[in-house]
Amino acid sequence: MKGATVFNRHSSRYIFRPPFIVRLEEFDEERLPTRFELSEAMEKNLPDLEIPEDLLNRLIEHARQEYPLESCGILAGKNGKTTKFYPMENTQKSSSCYLMAPEEQLRVFQEIEKEGLELSVIYHSHPHSPPFPSQRDVVSAFYPDSLILIISLMEDKISPIGAFQIEKGKIQPRVVKVIQNK
Ligand SMILES: [Zn+2]
Repeated sequence: MKGATVFNRHSSRYIFRPPFIVRLEEFDEERLPTRFELSEAMEKNLPDLEIPEDLLNRLIEHARQEYPLESCGILAGKNGKTTKFYPMENTQKSSSCYLMAPEEQLRVFQEIEKEGLELSVIYHSHPHSPPFPSQRDVVSAFYPDSLILIISLMEDKISPIGAFQIEKGKIQPRVVKVIQNK
């Protein structure tokens, strides 16, 4: 069975559901590979991320399909609750960075707006590194009103996941709540 680890500052528990195991665990700042400024004092505080289990599973599946390349995509929703997943093409075809096609991105942005939703999350995978923002991820975080969600595929059976608010070079880990589908 495949698994996913969700870094979470505030809770520690297991949710077992096929096809993935999602583990919520304490976020450990010392595990951050690079010295970024972790800050509680953001100008805006984005709501924590709520993601339905089936959406998270689709996102992990997409990441595994694209492996060893980085996958990327967009999650849309309202008030921190995500309801839609738009897998995107990584035009860089790279295992260390991603770039969404501008036309595809524009089309998705228009669709999100038409449905009265918001751009909640920019998602991408790290095939060979931990689920923490890279230097590139920090400088290219162009949507400060959206969270950055990263899934790591560096481990075989467990796929750690991290969600972050990035604002002007500052990083704040965010809570991920996995909502079980009824
Ligand atoms: Zn990255």
